[in-house]
Amino acid sequence: MFCRNCGAELLQNANICTQCGVPAGQGRHFCPNCDAPTDELAVVCIKCGCSLKHYYNSYTVNGVQVQRKSKLAAGLLGIFVGAFGIHNFYLGYTDRGIVQLLLGTVGSLACGIGPVVSAVWGLVEGIQILTGSINTDANGVPLGD
Ligand SMILES: [Zn+2]
Ligand SMILES: [Zn+2]
Repeated sequence: MFCRNCGAELLQNANICTQCGVPAGQGRHFCPNCDAPTDELAVVCIKCGCSLKHYYNSYTVNGVQVQRKSKLAAGLLGIFVGAFGIHNFYLGYTDRGIVQLLLGTVGSLACGIGPVVSAVWGLVEGIQILTGSINTDANGVPLGD
């Protein structure tokens, strides 16, 4: 595996490039599979044919590759269905999601104020996600595009 930013060879489970300091899998200049230079917007390597989008959207946590969650999807979920905490379930913030879900459902029994509170809460979080104030999921993985 090679650093996508500077092309240096990485150890199998490296989280970060020792050459340039960029997290493994990030950067767009080199193919992680064959080390060929890649176009910034390329989604496949023209030399070996491996998918570059996959590498761009994945992230290594403790040597395990995980998919990065979509910032856009999480933000829109917060704005439109944030009253039910869907964006927090999506990002893995289950506790917060459950509180919002309860507020948004049975919370309506308490003078109808619960859903208003959770809708505003979700809206604010949705905007924070889109503007980058919230930029990781519950596992600390940076959100993707
Ligand atoms: Zn590097
Ligand atoms: Zn390649």
